[in-house]
Amino acid sequence: MKKPKKGVYYLSCGRWLDKNAFIKYFEKKVAKTIRKYKLIEKNDKIAVAFSGGKDSLTLLYLLNRIYSSGGQEIIGLSIDEGIPGYRKKILKAAGKFLKQNNIKVKIFTFKKEFGFTLSSKTKKIKKLNLSNCYVCSILKRWLLNKKAKQLGFNVICTAHSLDDEAETILLNFLKGNPELLAKLGPLTGVRRTKEFVQRVKPFYLCSTKEIVLYAKLKKIPIPPKETCICPLRGTTLRVEIREWLIQLEKKHTEVKNAIVNSSLKINPLLKEKYKTLVFKKCKKCGFASSQDLCKACSILKELK
Ligand SMILES: [Zn+2]
Repeated sequence: MKKPKKGVYYLSCGRWLDKNAFIKYFEKKVAKTIRKYKLIEKNDKIAVAFSGGKDSLTLLYLLNRIYSSGGQEIIGLSIDEGIPGYRKKILKAAGKFLKQNNIKVKIFTFKKEFGFTLSSKTKKIKKLNLSNCYVCSILKRWLLNKKAKQLGFNVICTAHSLDDEAETILLNFLKGNPELLAKLGPLTGVRRTKEFVQRVKPFYLCSTKEIVLYAKLKKIPIPPKETCICPLRGTTLRVEIREWLIQLEKKHTEVKNAIVNSSLKINPLLKEKYKTLVFKKCKKCGFASSQDLCKACSILKELK
């Protein structure tokens, strides 16, 4: 039976929240996640990995609201991969809102930093038997870490939601990759290292549905779905898992919560198991790596 609508959001405990109550509930949930998992400390210099999409724009806005009153400025760091009609368009659409709210974003490009755009390397990537998404994510992550370090940030907040985390947990299970499972959680990685700026996920316990509703109620501009789908994205296992989870959730409303909560319980054990893995220093860039060259440097070598 469909529930009669008595508010903007229905909690699984059977209570409806009106607009103001939902905004409070959402902001409290994020603040509680940050406190509980010690994601951000008082003197941290905080950057937000900013893609221009709804999740990272909402995170950038909310963290600015929470921290700017205490004098902590939060800056967005963006990477433009150089895909025609894609990232520039999304970032431009967010520009007015960022300006109105006095939020700063720094943009770095593959073109300037690596000397090529992702689009110009797709044939070569295919020849190497790699996927565009894999190459792009490794290079973006590496560049973001490098820039955050150079600019003196010690925390990078990412806008990963509960939905994203549930997908990633299943993905690593299906790929048989417990080492990568160990790196998940609200604080990423198995241990803190000097070379990596700590990544944290303040939206870890928020569903995408909640983030979108908060964005709508706060009049945060949500770019149309089609502008946010990367034209170079292939059909990856992640996309298949996402679609499967959406179907599953229609019948079993709490599955994503259950996946993430189970992972939270197992995660400390996995982190303990893998924390003794010996990292070398990448011969090229000096970042921690399990090989002589880190993944980013070996991809860059192959693509040159
Ligand atoms: Zn390297």
